[in-house]
Amino acid sequence: MGVREREWYYTDAPDLLKFAAKKRLPRERSRVSSQEPQAIPAVTIPRAEHSISRANISENALKVLYRLKNAGFEGHLVGGSVRDLLLGREPKDFDVATSARPEEVEALFRNCRLIGRRFRLAHVRFGDEIIEVATFRASGAPDNDEAAQLAHDESGRILRDNIYGTLEEDAVRRDFTVNALYYDIRDFSVKDFVGGLPDLRAGVLRLIGDARTRYREDPVRMLRAVRFAVKLGFKMHPGTDAPMSEYGPLLADIPPARMFEEILKLFLYGFGLQAFEALRHYGLFAQLFPRTETALTTEEQSFPHVFIAKALASTDSRVQQDMPVTPAFLFAALLWEPTRLASQQLEAQGIHPAEALRRAAHEVVSEQISRVALPRRFATPMVEIYQLQPRFLQRQGKRPQRLLSHPRFRAAYDFLVLRAQAGEVDQELADWWTQLQADGSAPEVPALDGTEPRRRRRRRRRGGRGRAGVEQGPA
Ligand code: ATP
Ligand code: MG
Repeated sequence: MGVREREWYYTDAPDLLKFAAKKRLPRERSRVSSQEPQAIPAVTIPRAEHSISRANISENALKVLYRLKNAGFEGHLVGGSVRDLLLGREPKDFDVATSARPEEVEALFRNCRLIGRRFRLAHVRFGDEIIEVATFRASGAPDNDEAAQLAHDESGRILRDNIYGTLEEDAVRRDFTVNALYYDIRDFSVKDFVGGLPDLRAGVLRLIGDARTRYREDPVRMLRAVRFAVKLGFKMHPGTDAPMSEYGPLLADIPPARMFEEILKLFLYGFGLQAFEALRHYGLFAQLFPRTETALTTEEQSFPHVFIAKALASTDSRVQQDMPVTPAFLFAALLWEPTRLASQQLEAQGIHPAEALRRAAHEVVSEQISRVALPRRFATPMVEIYQLQPRFLQRQGKRPQRLLSHPRFRAAYDFLVLRAQAGEVDQELADWWTQLQADGSAPEVPALDGTEPRRRRRRRRRGGRGRAGVEQGPA
């Protein structure tokens, strides 16, 4: 996981913080106005009354928590790990929140590195596992000195955030109520300051505080909302999803590299198809892949939608079977339709198909990366997957064997199979390549016997030296 995503963009939402510090508020205040957020009583669930057991917590996370505690600091598990353990799911990683300053954490662990510019975090490394330790974040009360470091840009986004605070303050600056539960290593209790436990029980995903403010501060929270709702099977609270259609365009200001990381978390963790449908439902997909969205909304047949759905479903099932997945294939699927359309247009201008495809891919990728970064190590294989597609039509002589030994053959073949499933190319073509791999020798290329698919290809051939022409060879 990258550093960038960890630099949250937090609220100083003063109204909320009043409620976090509710003990100081006269009682009546929290009752008077229904306009103001309701004061939520802080709840502590003792060890005997919740299901989190140390047996399910990573040993390394426990080591970190105990060492913090023994040095006199507060140490809590927080975020996805507490949420997932309470739901009986296996956490993806273990995050720790502490009262220790980053430098104090650093002094406690030899295997520790401080990261982040806006907000310093400690990464404590144990082999492959990194335990992320974050100091409690503060509200940035305007009367304290450090608050001056908090700066918003015009749209309300927080640009700098460097202030440390208390556990309660830390809680209200997190994104969703179910992500703001703490497991306290001192007594193994679970602490809830924001109503996360009832939401967890009800399966509700609710943004903490005023949703509009929180989305303006950090528009990526909209993508996180979709991701958690889909992944956990939670309903979004009405206030949480209502602003999305209006605020979606704010995603345009997010650095493409951060968007790339979010895209991977949406599409490569086993629930990509549902995430895709939900993103489209909320009008967010158009912000991520504008050209694909245009192709989807102007589609004449259902092909692009079917194709993307099949690609995502196949990626999901690979994830479920612990098979490797790559962003190259994901982006190839998501950008195929706009690339295909652009390539067709170039071909219509008389440009050779292979060159048209190359140019189209270049055009689509350069436009796309202004939204979502696509590191070269993924863009290059993605374009190769495209470029190998016409070569599947060349089934004569030594060509098939040559293609088989191409390092990108397997991904390109998988891509071809999806195209066939979605009805873009003949199923017979995909089957032929399947059989070639199974038998090791080239099956006969079906004769031009006037069956449906053949006829279609032959017709295209009249346009000149088409891709299909090569395949069919000299008559
Ligand atoms: P996952 O299962 O994907 O790891 P997670 O909830 O742990 O889910 P992380 O991205 O690991 O998500 O972040 C850890 C915690 O940090 C979150 O649960 C949340 O409390 C807080 N957090 C992360 N990003 C933001 C953000 N953009 N705004 C507010 N809080 C955030
Ligand atoms: Mg996490």
